[in-house]
Amino acid sequence: MSALTELYEEIASCQLCDLSQARKRTVPGEGPEDAEIVFIGEAPGFHEDQQGRPFVGSAGQFLEELLDSIGLRREDVYICNVMKCRPPGNRDPLSEEAGACKPYLDRQIELIAPRMIVTLGRFSMERYFPGARISHIHGRPRKMGGIIYYPMYHPAAALHQPKWRQVIKEDMLKIPQLLAEADRIAETEPPQSAEQLNLF
Ligand code: URA
Repeated sequence: MSALTELYEEIASCQLCDLSQARKRTVPGEGPEDAEIVFIGEAPGFHEDQQGRPFVGSAGQFLEELLDSIGLRREDVYICNVMKCRPPGNRDPLSEEAGACKPYLDRQIELIAPRMIVTLGRFSMERYFPGARISHIHGRPRKMGGIIYYPMYHPAAALHQPKWRQVIKEDMLKIPQLLAEADRIAETEPPQSAEQLNLF
């Protein structure tokens, strides 16, 4: 059994927060264990909780469309969420729930060791760019510790507000070139404060 599969089992029996009481299934994530790109959403919704798989609802359909636009299928990339269990009624995760879940995503990233991490939406962006505004930083890569971090709007945003559709599509289309030119992207220090982030 791979270390990642062992981690999935650990997540499946997790009781670290109250979300474990209401879930039907945990949704650890899925994709190749050596994926180049990891996409990180917020938390499982209704369908994800039912199926134990990330992004299987309408946001997932749009994500697949976006992947197709750069010649990828969902099987080619790793897809997961910050939270491994569905918050009831799709409410925002509480900070203690997010804190309890944090080590799982950290360990996933360590095991997969991707070249690029794409954050989908504000909640996932906040993990890597605390205090940043998504309207400022979406579509702008940062390289830290050899990994390219690339914030995008959440695909569900386009479903609620069609004006985001084009923005999300354009940000997605930049990914192949960013990967091709990864070596030329300069390393930056991890952000220290919200003020510094406003500059980037
Ligand atoms: N939205 C997310 O953030 N994650 C999913 O898995 C589905 C919808």
